[in-house]
Amino acid sequence: MTQTPIKTRFAPSPTGKLHVGNVRTAVITWLAARKFGGSYLLRLDDTDVERSKEEYAVSIQRDLKWLGLEWDEFARQQDRRERYDELIQKLKEDGRLYACYETPEELSLKRKSLLSRGLPPIYDRAALELTEAQKAQYEKEGRKPHWRFLLKAELIEWQDLVRGDVKFHGKDLADPVLIREDGSPLYHLCSVIDDMDFGVTHIIRGEDHVTNTATHLQMFEALGGTLPTCAHLALISDAEGGKLSKRLGSLGIETLREEEKLDPMAILSYLALLGTSLPIEAVKDRQNLIDSFDFSHFSRSSAKFDAEELYRLNTKLLHETSFSEISGKLADMGLGNIDETFWLAVRPNLVKLEDLREWWRVANGPVTPEIDDAEFASTAAELLPPAPWDGETWNVWIAAVKERTGRKGKELFMPIRKALTGMEHGPELPVLLPLIGRDETAARLKKRA
Ligand code: GLU
Repeated sequence: MTQTPIKTRFAPSPTGKLHVGNVRTAVITWLAARKFGGSYLLRLDDTDVERSKEEYAVSIQRDLKWLGLEWDEFARQQDRRERYDELIQKLKEDGRLYACYETPEELSLKRKSLLSRGLPPIYDRAALELTEAQKAQYEKEGRKPHWRFLLKAELIEWQDLVRGDVKFHGKDLADPVLIREDGSPLYHLCSVIDDMDFGVTHIIRGEDHVTNTATHLQMFEALGGTLPTCAHLALISDAEGGKLSKRLGSLGIETLREEEKLDPMAILSYLALLGTSLPIEAVKDRQNLIDSFDFSHFSRSSAKFDAEELYRLNTKLLHETSFSEISGKLADMGLGNIDETFWLAVRPNLVKLEDLREWWRVANGPVTPEIDDAEFASTAAELLPPAPWDGETWNVWIAAVKERTGRKGKELFMPIRKALTGMEHGPELPVLLPLIGRDETAARLKKRA
């Protein structure tokens, strides 16, 4: 890999929110920029004015910031219309754009007819045969043209950083539509112009764009741009191996942040390492992910996304989180009263941060003790060891209760659990006990909590 500064970009369309599927490209484009001393462009592909929404533009930026994927430059395609028009003019003058008048229905018929004959559904370029008089007639009928890019019948070849040598031939590809009937430029054209104007050196995106890239490379040439280096990532699939499922797509970053309270580093670690030859592990420091990044690690076959694994990484990170790192978040969760002692005692027992809420409630109340055998509870209360309490107190106490009452197993533990927590299941009692404290434990055993 060259050491000259590179530039990558993440180019989401603000037609929806970010989720684990589409944010992976953001993670990898960002890592590449940071690894190779490059710069990172966030570009909103908002040429589809009807589907693009400001709320999504805002939400995408909020999610990226939360993940720590800060960008050096920002652009929106809607601001660049004049520039696109300028280059559209050039392409028309150079004979690389041609007007087509087929309606969507006519195009669909052509496609069906080709497919029924076992042929690839490639546009037949009938529009190139239209005379000026025929075009004028269409215009008179009120038809507006859409414009296609005239591909050259040449070999298109590039060294893909993930897929290796990739070859297409211009004659096997359909001329892409670059301008709609209403005159607005489409993604293909805007993307190439932007990548060229912003000096993007590395285009990294999903392999669903491979065929697009073949046509884009001819557009770069037609516009006099420098050909970028390309990397097409194998797609991620769900556990069943199907294409990225709705379920996976619905794992929104906003939900993972606001509801699941995930650590952004769990998401970053998982998406940076998934589909690579590196082991998937919880990485606490993003610099480590940057240091280990390399295109050669990416597999050409699709990787399976497993939400369980993401949660496991999150749990792992949670268990390594110090009190000073978490205290701000605790305050945001309304758990600002939790101190370091409480955090350190409970931390190894948490699967997710939200579990802390239950620990705090059970430790501090309100709890409605459940007592079936008042005599047993009262005996247990009498045997409570003197304060101060620590992690050993439970063992000392339970041994004494066992000896005095002769109870063991469930008979011994369940009444105590129900008295102390009001529930049959819940936090580990040995950890919980010192957090409840001697007076409160005694009170609960006497049902005076
Ligand atoms: N807006 C396009 C998409 O979301 C960008 C693809 C690209 O990276 O060029 O698919």
